[in-house]
Amino acid sequence: MYDLVIIGSGPAGLSASIYAKRAGLNAVTLEQNPMSGGQVLNTYEVDNYPGLPGINGFDLGMKFREHADKLGCEFMEAAVQEIKTVEAARREANQKEEGKAEMKAASLPENRKMDSGFIVATDQEEIKTRTILAAMGATHAKLGVPGEEELTGMGVSYCATCDGAFFRGKVTAVVGGGDVAVEDAIFLARACEKVYLIHRRDELRAAAVLQKEVMSLPNVEILWDTVAKKIEGSDKVQALVLENVKTGENKVLAVDGVFVAVGIIPSGDILKGLVKQDENGYVLAGEDCMTSMSGVFAAGDIRKKKLRQVVTAVADGANAVTSVLEYLNGVK
Ligand SMILES: Cc1cc2nc3c(=O)[nH]c(=O)nc-3n(C[C@H](O)[C@H](O)[C@H](O)COP(=O)(O)OP(=O)(O)OC[C@H]3O[C@@H](n4cnc5c(N)ncnc54)[C@H](O)[C@@H]3O)c2cc1C
Repeated sequence: MYDLVIIGSGPAGLSASIYAKRAGLNAVTLEQNPMSGGQVLNTYEVDNYPGLPGINGFDLGMKFREHADKLGCEFMEAAVQEIKTVEAARREANQKEEGKAEMKAASLPENRKMDSGFIVATDQEEIKTRTILAAMGATHAKLGVPGEEELTGMGVSYCATCDGAFFRGKVTAVVGGGDVAVEDAIFLARACEKVYLIHRRDELRAAAVLQKEVMSLPNVEILWDTVAKKIEGSDKVQALVLENVKTGENKVLAVDGVFVAVGIIPSGDILKGLVKQDENGYVLAGEDCMTSMSGVFAAGDIRKKKLRQVVTAVADGANAVTSVLEYLNGVK
């Protein structure tokens, strides 16, 4: 049985792997993707991580993983599908046994004494562990308009850094108004003939420095008070249907690519019913990363907190392992 299973190898999970290894814990980090690094892999430049100004997001992710590998941290490529307490798993198994109702009731206290911890079911195997660190981060929110799903990978993208190069000399649109949307527009403007930034309000939410930069670019046009209604095209994106929310006026914009940057959704589905989450799915846990379930901890973007960044995710990873150690030593 592991002392700790870390789910996710983004900045939070990788920082936790490093701290767990150095603390002598028997820990494994599970990652559903072939590559570690999480969301940061999708950004061309991280300019706010101390000590590494202007580092490419992919390189930063690789550096975190190399550090963990150098220390000998254990990793497994596996997608976690379900988490159960050992007790709940035993109770379920007992309940499946037909015609043994009395035996079931009698065997439960015994099971409680024998086992504690969790069973983590993945697409590869089941793993038993004393504690869990949920570091599954977040994924891109969708626009939810006709054409989006059908044309994903055929001009609709959620990652300008990954797909921007396919649109060299072409016309693209970025939908959103936060940091990521503006960064995407700036990035695309380097290669695209023209970039439209589609924003539903009359001011951007992005950091002032990004706003200043995007507004200075001659090939970026911001369409204010505008929402995307539909993405058109048969086997590739050809147009974006827009609506002005103030006037109700519709217009069709000929574009080759649509980059969606309308926010993130926490990847917390596997925690439903296990720990308390807020209405958006963020796990309720304080700075000590302790959740409502004893033995389950949460770090990084999945946790309800004010600022979701690399620096806060790696800090969470370190704090979480400190709490795990206290829990395993019976302090908490
Ligand atoms: C385009 C973009 C630009 C950004 N730019 C910056 C920036 O400049 N500076 C900055 O500080 N921050 C930036 N951020 C935010 C930063 O990337 C995140 O705050 C940070 O990555 C969060 O780390 P995390 O480990 O909590 O989660 P994530 O990075 O989301 O990593 C979570 C990991 O968990 C894995 N996972 C999820 N579910 C499962 C499962 N069921 N089983 C196994 N594995 C699973 C995922 O595959 C992923 O690898 C940016 C984000 C984006 C999207």
